[in-house]
Amino acid sequence: MSQCIHILPEELCNKIAAGEVVERPASVVKELVENSLDAQADEIRIEIEQGGRKLIRVHDDGQGMSRDDAFLCLERHATSKIRNDADMFALDTLGFRGEALPSIASVSRFTLRTCLKGETVGTEIQVEGGIVRQAQDAGFPVGTQVEVRNLFFNTPARRKFLRREETEIGHIADIVTKQALAHPQVRFLLKHNGRVLVDARREKGLVDRTGLLLGRTLAEELLPLEMSSGDGLHCRGLIAPATTTRSTTGAIYTYINGRYVRDKVVQHAVLEGYRGLLMRGRYPVVVLFLEMDPGEVDVNVHPTKHEVRFRQQRQVHDFISNAIREQLRKDYRPEHQPNTSSEGGRESVLPVQDGSLEQNRKPAPPEVMSSQADVNARPTDQRNTAEHVQEPLQPFGSQVAQPGKVPAVSSLQEGPESFFSTESATKDTENRFFRNLRYIGQYQGTYLLAEYGQELVLVDQHAAHERVTFERLKRQYFKGRVEAQRLMFPVVVELDFQAASALETVLVDLERLGFELEAFGGRSYNLKAIPQLLGEGAPEKLLQDVAAEVLRYGDSAQIEEQMENVLAGMACHSSVRAHQILTETEVLALFEALDQIDFNAHCPHGRPVVKRFSLYEVERMFRRT
Ligand code: ADP
Ligand code: MG
Repeated sequence: MSQCIHILPEELCNKIAAGEVVERPASVVKELVENSLDAQADEIRIEIEQGGRKLIRVHDDGQGMSRDDAFLCLERHATSKIRNDADMFALDTLGFRGEALPSIASVSRFTLRTCLKGETVGTEIQVEGGIVRQAQDAGFPVGTQVEVRNLFFNTPARRKFLRREETEIGHIADIVTKQALAHPQVRFLLKHNGRVLVDARREKGLVDRTGLLLGRTLAEELLPLEMSSGDGLHCRGLIAPATTTRSTTGAIYTYINGRYVRDKVVQHAVLEGYRGLLMRGRYPVVVLFLEMDPGEVDVNVHPTKHEVRFRQQRQVHDFISNAIREQLRKDYRPEHQPNTSSEGGRESVLPVQDGSLEQNRKPAPPEVMSSQADVNARPTDQRNTAEHVQEPLQPFGSQVAQPGKVPAVSSLQEGPESFFSTESATKDTENRFFRNLRYIGQYQGTYLLAEYGQELVLVDQHAAHERVTFERLKRQYFKGRVEAQRLMFPVVVELDFQAASALETVLVDLERLGFELEAFGGRSYNLKAIPQLLGEGAPEKLLQDVAAEVLRYGDSAQIEEQMENVLAGMACHSSVRAHQILTETEVLALFEALDQIDFNAHCPHGRPVVKRFSLYEVERMFRRT
């Protein structure tokens, strides 16, 4: 045989292309909605059945297609959007590859109905697994409807990867949210199994649309942003103040020239704008539209076009982060900065010189300064400092230690080994490491300094508290259920679509997690009780975090592992922050509590709780050895 290479048949090519473009039902919705938007639709109706496994139908009132075009659009690389490669760099449409429709049609039972503006009769074409089965004239209003049934019916491997209905519809709702945010002038209707999930009527603008999709209360907090550079970059949108955060990057919505992107450079730039203002592991809420010369950005670098490449990457990056920072600086007030971080720490501990945010942030409000100075002088005066802490410290039940009753360290033997072991602490081998610390004071409102024999010990108060809360929650959870505490005033929490559908999957587990929740219609829940250990702090945010955590680990993890992750998120939520003044009583209670839990020197997210320096190390720093 002299020839072993052959050209693949068209249907197979389409199937291969589908492998890239059509990952799951949500990707079909994305492609179809983009086509409707490109066709200038005013209204897009999306109907889904069984998470998209059974049916995806997208109907628009856009310009429609002629009979010839209706056939052509099913061919590979058939597009009306570009003609030559120069057009690729002057794009004003979302599509341009001409791959979506043939790809989708190759892995489903596909029906296209369309009628061109100005025509009276439309066209209907039925395709099965990429092969046209039937075509006829059909009465149809101007616009286009694509019906996708039995997705992946002929690619069983793919079909197997489909997740639970709730998960798939969550992804679909997320896609619709992303598109609907960018097009407030278009009506979006999303139905699942006959139930309306999204009905975004044409809104006056971004604020209304954001309120509708992401929640009214959130939208009210968001700060408007608008900025232009001298050289053709423009951005506008809504950004959350640093106090409103999420536990994932899921609420960062960024667009370039109207196209949703999940690009590393853009994302980094956004986070850079918030640098130093958020706790580690917390992320902002941002809806940001960047407009630029299409020639400056290549969108053809990723199958889903979510990643892009900029000609002037640095410039775009800095433009975005400066715009955000500038807006946050305007909004800046000391009480807005409860979690100023210790993160950037290592590289630069000095205030920067340009008069920007860092410098403004540096001095603590005067009252806090003085109470901080007073901590040692009046260790028992808890009230004095308590009013300055941003989030109340949860009392450690009955184990509150008495100040001044710190036992002296007798020897070094009992502490270290058991402390660093990962074994559970049992009654007989109870840890005494923390109880045997001699507390010196608080450094930067973040680290607890103590002496242990000849050692200098630094404890990260947030990590420590998080660990304690996590262990206690876990103990309660695995014993039966986390103790709940009824809220004095139940709160109505409005979640976004993805979060709401994530929660639906774990409603039963939520009860075991110490929540009492009542569906309140749509995406709203009436939250009546929360885990007792977490205090009444910010129940709404807590529930948002739990939903985000479930989403993040939803499909991949075993239920037990998933719950551990959720518990870790909950613990973090409630914990003492960095930059929170603690009284000596509170510190000693925390030390005591640390001794009583099973732990291994790290917070549930892996950061160390404690660092120890030997006398030798300290002396070496001062060249005394
Ligand atoms: P692309 O969007 O990259 O051009 P598609 O396969 O998604 O490729 O669509 C092929 C062509 O079919 C489009 O270029 C457009 O001309 C036409 N088309 C697809 N969907 C619609 C629609 N909803 N309304 C009008 N025309 C459409
Ligand atoms: Mg397209």
